[in-house]
Amino acid sequence: MDYPGNLFVVSAPSGAGKSSLVKALLELDSQVYRSISHTTRAPRGQEKHGREYYFASREDFEKMIAGNAFVEWANVHGNMYGTSKKAIEERLAKGADIVLEIDYQGALQIKESFPHAVLIFILPPSWDELRSRLENRGEDTSDVIAVRLKNAHQEMSQVDKFDFVIINELFERALFDLKAVVHSQRLRFLCQRRTRAEIFSSLDISDSLENS
Ligand code: 5GP
Repeated sequence: MDYPGNLFVVSAPSGAGKSSLVKALLELDSQVYRSISHTTRAPRGQEKHGREYYFASREDFEKMIAGNAFVEWANVHGNMYGTSKKAIEERLAKGADIVLEIDYQGALQIKESFPHAVLIFILPPSWDELRSRLENRGEDTSDVIAVRLKNAHQEMSQVDKFDFVIINELFERALFDLKAVVHSQRLRFLCQRRTRAEIFSSLDISDSLENS
């Protein structure tokens, strides 16, 4: 089904800066909503249930899979993560723009169910930079960092399946690129036709348009 709202999916290896970019986008653009995923991983630091994630037991997560509650789910770095249908379908149907911050396996599943979803991949400028960002954020042990770097290679090899690539070398530049992708989708004919309906009717062209 083609929903009136835009669905943006942002993926990246850990440390590429995906969360900071999405956070900055949401602060600047009140029309974009971030979907809150379910996960079986334990909360980190100040994370709150219902804010960063819905934290669930493995058993509850599996029940949701069995009940077909997810539009996508995947095992990432040993934990389960999923996007619930309820979280996105209602909002999209109302015409809201939604951003999913999920791994590449989830992104590819989303593209199958929502062919119009816009897939954006964030790349770091180099391996050295990726490693030092993971080390400097001080959230993970060296074992965890080693796993994340190992996984990063495989994750980045999926970049060709994405619609847009943003290289996060300079944060402000990458944010500009992300805003540009979001903005460009809002200029698509169907989106303009819906959000600027009064202009189309005042120009008296509505009747002659296909896809109206
Ligand atoms: P973290 O544990 O660091 O918050 O997230 C680990 C990875 O899981 C990140 O790449 C994050 O984008 C991804 N992730 C978060 N939520 C979801 C989700 O709902 N589905 C999938 N497939 N990946 C997710």
